[in-house]
Amino acid sequence: MNSTNQTNPTNSTNPTNSTNSHVFGPVPSRRLGLSLGVDLIPAKTCTFDCLYCQAGKTTDRTLKTRSFVPVDEVVSQVEKRLLQCEPDVITLAGSGEPTLHSEIDQVIEGIKAVSGTSVALLTNGSLFWDREIRRRVLRADIVMPTLVSAFDETFRTIHRPHPELALETIVGGLKRFRNEYNGELFLEVVLLAGINDTEKEVEGLKALIDGISPEKIHLNTVARPPSDSRAKSLDRERLEEIMLFFGEKAEIVVDASAVKRGSIKDSLAGDLLDMMRRRPLRLIDIADSLGRPVDHVEDLIKGFLIKGDVRKQEHSGEIFYLSREANVHKGRK
Ligand code: SF4
Repeated sequence: MNSTNQTNPTNSTNPTNSTNSHVFGPVPSRRLGLSLGVDLIPAKTCTFDCLYCQAGKTTDRTLKTRSFVPVDEVVSQVEKRLLQCEPDVITLAGSGEPTLHSEIDQVIEGIKAVSGTSVALLTNGSLFWDREIRRRVLRADIVMPTLVSAFDETFRTIHRPHPELALETIVGGLKRFRNEYNGELFLEVVLLAGINDTEKEVEGLKALIDGISPEKIHLNTVARPPSDSRAKSLDRERLEEIMLFFGEKAEIVVDASAVKRGSIKDSLAGDLLDMMRRRPLRLIDIADSLGRPVDHVEDLIKGFLIKGDVRKQEHSGEIFYLSREANVHKGRK
């Protein structure tokens, strides 16, 4: 999945383990507002092992789809959570690539049957060359695949993909999906300083993206501690240059604090720890998500720090908090 992936340490690989929680948040999303996350994949199972992943290193790099978690269990947990919160969107994301779930079509249908909220899919798009995978996600309202380069070498450096995956095949799949899909396609471009931010890279990307024709181009960079410290952020000035070059569909993904959000009626310390197991959060992220003042959240976090439940991590001059149990590499998507 792309950016934005969160870990779920409570998941095992046992698809029938009914004690797992597959729903998390709502958490502030820089692209979607207040997002209720649905994690369909155990940590850390993916077709890629991206330098910038915030969910840590991929331990199971695979192309094999499975019913990792039971559909009924996921839908029932979403339905219960919606009694407590009003997210802007329900996002299939989590601890790996969601299209690896072989029943993702039933998950999308099930969520739509119990909710009027839009369903978004965060995906790395690496399996869209497969007609059956494309069919399974056609009912999502928003699909957000990732593209980082027009050049195979750079693609491999950043994504460290499963050896059977090739950039050309993936781009072909994205173009076919564009032709078949009636929802909104937001293409995420993750930019890393010194790797895919050169003129050659940016020009190559623009030509590829023009051929895919998404509704929006979301320019992103490393905003949280990455899986690999070689993943470095672009500065705002370079991001703005690239945005102007890409044209009117492009936007720099705005900070969550500037995004409209829904409201949460109730939250517990457990919810907060659960959020921080899945991805590193700043105080402002936590405050926004819980709908509470920053100073109140700060007190809660201090308590967690004293008890040893949470640790701090600095990245690009900002402090992030994450659960001691988080499957996040010490060092950040
Ligand atoms: S490795 Fe890459 S594609 Fe996989 S979950 Fe992490 S960021 Fe997403």
